[in-house]
Amino acid sequence: MQTTTETSASPESKPGMQKPQTMQYPQERSFYDGLLREGRDAPTRAEIESVLAHTGLTTDDPRLATLRGVLKPYAMSDAVPFDALLPALRGDGGTLLRRALRGDLTIPDFDLFTSTLKKIFDDVTGIRTGEVASYIPQLARVDADAFAMAVCTLDGQQFSLGDDATPYCVQSTCKPINYAIALDLLDAEKVHRHVGREPSGRSFNEITLNSAGLPHNPMINAGAIMCASLIEPQNSSADRFDRIIKTWRAMAGDRPVGFDNAVFLSERDTADRNFSLAYFMRENGAFPPDTNLQSTLDLYFQCCSITVDVRQMAVIAASLANGGVCPLTSERVFTSGTVKNCLSLMASCGMYDFSGEYAFTVGLPAKSGVSGALFITIPGVCGIALWSPRLDALGNSVRGVEFSRQLTRAFNFHTFSDMVSDSGLSNPRRPRAEISADEATYLCAAAAAGDIDELRRLLARGIDINRADYDGRTALHLAASEGRAETIAYLLERGADAVKLDRWGNTPLDDAERGMHHDIVARLKAAAGRPFRATATARSLKPVLAKAGPK
Ligand code: GLN
Repeated sequence: MQTTTETSASPESKPGMQKPQTMQYPQERSFYDGLLREGRDAPTRAEIESVLAHTGLTTDDPRLATLRGVLKPYAMSDAVPFDALLPALRGDGGTLLRRALRGDLTIPDFDLFTSTLKKIFDDVTGIRTGEVASYIPQLARVDADAFAMAVCTLDGQQFSLGDDATPYCVQSTCKPINYAIALDLLDAEKVHRHVGREPSGRSFNEITLNSAGLPHNPMINAGAIMCASLIEPQNSSADRFDRIIKTWRAMAGDRPVGFDNAVFLSERDTADRNFSLAYFMRENGAFPPDTNLQSTLDLYFQCCSITVDVRQMAVIAASLANGGVCPLTSERVFTSGTVKNCLSLMASCGMYDFSGEYAFTVGLPAKSGVSGALFITIPGVCGIALWSPRLDALGNSVRGVEFSRQLTRAFNFHTFSDMVSDSGLSNPRRPRAEISADEATYLCAAAAAGDIDELRRLLARGIDINRADYDGRTALHLAASEGRAETIAYLLERGADAVKLDRWGNTPLDDAERGMHHDIVARLKAAAGRPFRATATARSLKPVLAKAGPK
C-alpha cells in the first residue's frame, strides 16, 4: 500500500488467504513482542497491566473496554497469548493502546512526570499551617490534614496520590462551571450584561459591585450567584440542578458526581452574607427581570455542595484544558469559545484576592474553593486537581498554592515560561511539531484499522478530517483501501472529501475500486456527487501529479 501509515494486513483486505494470526498481523505482533519479558513467549496479565500503568492508562478507562474484556478471564499470573490479546490491539481502542505502547501520548515519559509530582506532593504534605473554613459549620468538621492530588492529560493518562478517593465538596470551584454553562446557554454578550470581567481586588464575599452596579466577575460569590440566576430560570429548580449535575458528570468522564445535603443545609442556614449580596445586586438592578432570589440562592448553594474526588476533578480540569471535550469520552461538553472565556477569567480572577500574585508566579488558569479544593488547567496538556482543607488568610488552600508554585518551578507550564530560553525548566509534553506531524498518521491509522472511537477522539481535538499524510493520503483513502464500510460512512457524514487526490493522483474511490470493495464504491460515488467525472478528473491529473512528486 502506498502509505507511510501504520496498517496491517487483515482478512478483510486479503479475502481467501488463511495465514497464521502472527503473520497476518505484523504490527500487532511487534507491539505484543514489546510486552514480553526476557526469555518468555507470552506476557502475564499483571505484566500487561503494569506496562499500561507506566503509560498512564488504566484498564478501567472507558476507551479500553475491549482490553478489559480480553483480560477478564485471566488471573494476574496467567500468560495471555497473542491470539487472545489481538482484538485489543486492533479495532476499537487498539489505536490508543498502540500509541500508548509506542510512547506517543501527551506526556510520553509519564513515569518521570509523575515522580516529580510525587516529590512535590511529599514535600508539600509537611505543611500544617492554615485553618479549615468554619463559617459553614459542616466544612469545619472535615479532616484538616487530608490531602489529595490527581492529574489527567489530554490523552486520558491519569495519576493520583493521597486521599484520592475521598469525596469533598467543590464550593467555589463550581463557579467556572456555572459561568461556562451560562455562556453556552446565552452567549458571552448577554451574560456580561449582568456580570463584569475585572478582578475585584477584594475578598470573595465582599459586598461590593463595579461602577456599573454589576458583580465584578463570575469567580467571586456575587458573580457566581448572578451566573446561577442565568441558568434556565424558566425551568423548575429540579430541572436546573439536573442540568448542572449532568454537565459535571459529562466533564468527569461520565462518572456520577455526588451531593452533600448536610453541607447544603448548613450553608443555607448560615448564608446571611450571600443573601445580602443578592439583595444588594437586586437593589442595583443587576439581575434579569423576574429573577427569583430564593431559588437562585438555593441553586448556588446546591452547586457549592456538589461532591467529587480529585480523580474526577482532574478529568474535569482536563476537559477544560482540552477545549471543552472530555478526554475519556470524547464528548464535547462546552464550546471552545466558552472554554476560552472561562479560562481567561480563571487566569485573572480564579484565586480571589491572590489572583494577580498567582498569575505572576504560577501563570496558569486555576480556581480554588473554601473546602480546600483547587484545580489547575494547563491548556493543551492536562488538568490537575488538589484538595487540602487548610486555608490561608485569603481563602486559598495553603498546600494547593505551594504545590502550584513548585509545579511551575519544576516544569515550563507558566503561560510565559517559553519566553525564557534558558529557564532550565523541564518540558514533559510531546513536541508540538511532532504532534502535528503525527495527527495525519494517527487519523489514517485509525481509519485503516476501522477504529471509529479513536477517529472520534482525534476529530474532537479539532484535527481536520481531510488532513493528509506525507503522501497526500487521507483517512478516507485508508478506509477505502482497507474496505472499511462503516468507517467510510462515518467519515463521509463528517465532511471527508471523496475526491481528494493523493500523491499518485488517486482518490479514495480509486482505492476502493482497486481493492474491489464493491459495496463502498457506490457509497463513494454517491458522496463524490459527480459519479464518474471525479475519478476521470483525477486520472487526467495523475501523470502531472506523479511528475510533480510529493507536495
Ligand atoms: N459556598 C461558599 C460561599 O458562598 C463558596 C465560597 C468559596 O468557596 N470561596 O461562601
